[in-house]
Amino acid sequence: MLDHPAAPTSPPEAHLAPSALAHNYHPLDVVIAAGEGSWVIDTRGRRFLDCLAGYSALNFGHRHPALVAAAKAQLDRITLTSRAFDHELLVPFAEAVTRLTGTEMLLPMNTGAEAVETAVKAARKWGYEVKGVPDGEATIVVAEGAFHGRTTTMISMSSDPEARGGFGPYTPGFRVVPYGDVDAVAAAVDETTVAVLVEPVQGESGVIVPPADYLPALRNLCTAADALLVLDEIQSGLGRTGTTLAQDLAGVRGDLITLGKALGGGILPVSAVVGRRDVLSVLTPGTHGSTFGGNSLACAVGLAVVDLLEPGDLQARAATLGVELRERVDDLVSRGLLAAGRTVGLWAGLDVEPGLGVSGRATCERLVSRGILVKETHGTTIRLAPPLTISSDDLHLALDTLTEVLREEAAEARR
Ligand SMILES: *Cc1c(COP(=O)(O)O)cnc(C)c1O
Repeated sequence: MLDHPAAPTSPPEAHLAPSALAHNYHPLDVVIAAGEGSWVIDTRGRRFLDCLAGYSALNFGHRHPALVAAAKAQLDRITLTSRAFDHELLVPFAEAVTRLTGTEMLLPMNTGAEAVETAVKAARKWGYEVKGVPDGEATIVVAEGAFHGRTTTMISMSSDPEARGGFGPYTPGFRVVPYGDVDAVAAAVDETTVAVLVEPVQGESGVIVPPADYLPALRNLCTAADALLVLDEIQSGLGRTGTTLAQDLAGVRGDLITLGKALGGGILPVSAVVGRRDVLSVLTPGTHGSTFGGNSLACAVGLAVVDLLEPGDLQARAATLGVELRERVDDLVSRGLLAAGRTVGLWAGLDVEPGLGVSGRATCERLVSRGILVKETHGTTIRLAPPLTISSDDLHLALDTLTEVLREEAAEARR
């Protein structure tokens, strides 16, 4: 029985009521008032276990004490200088993040989309100045199903009609090929190609994990073709996959890597491009920048984020909990309660069983009504991305509740 319309066709009546807020989201029916760790509380006093964690912006949970302390201390010193002047945390922040990620140089921005924009600009300029691509002819190979943000250039790479439709004209210079297909990338690369830009795991698309040889093959291909490998780790990075970066699982390093979401500790937007010094060095004074990028408060929080990740315990925890998550997901698939389930680290994309006549949205609504915050993506997929700090008991509570909801839906479908 379908008791709710499939997302995103028709938002409920309440969302159509006149409101000062633009309707570019269709949130689940919870008004959150406070949060701590993996739990939030709504304005009606109900408690919810947060299994979305701000699309991985909250990898350390809500209001992690070390992150809040770093932010509060910085609020009492200085918050913003603009890049017209240096401040004492800028170089330490760059050093900390490059050390953590095994890279050489960092350029700070704010949102994820801006970090990918920065990588695109650096790759193009590198292509013209270093590789010798004729001016205005640079191409970048990108993947179907990718999500890199919402700016006009980011959606120009998108194959999602919802994200793209109605926003043209589009930025030229992108060649879109199927994700996970090395031969398709090889066929799309030519002498104008300055970069291959992909997510090591596609997040928005529903936690799509490519074949194990995909990233190593792209690495070799890019090196051979004198093109940059640009890896968007904004959602996959910073512990989610059980490693510091998702690309660590494949043992590769991108020439440029974009970071965001968890880099701001769930407190403020902090993003960056890290990577090769010779590539980022094409961006010289006046050619690129950001008023807020690398501000003092962002650097203070970002440094505290690196402090949390540097010992490696959280990555190990994500890997260990990830094994428990995978076992439970495999079990749900083998019992026919899910059509498919993909996991990597503490991250899962669960495809609801169309035979049960349920939508991802309806399943999420049932989960939310039972105290588990989750959100569907692309209609039929439920993404689980709890904080890396979640307890094993809480993770199993979420999975027990999910199992109950799926069994209930299966029972209703049989009636
Ligand atoms: C979320 C996301 C972005 C965009 O980040 P914003 O901060 O929303 O601009 C870019 N790339 C990936 C892989 C993402 O998941």
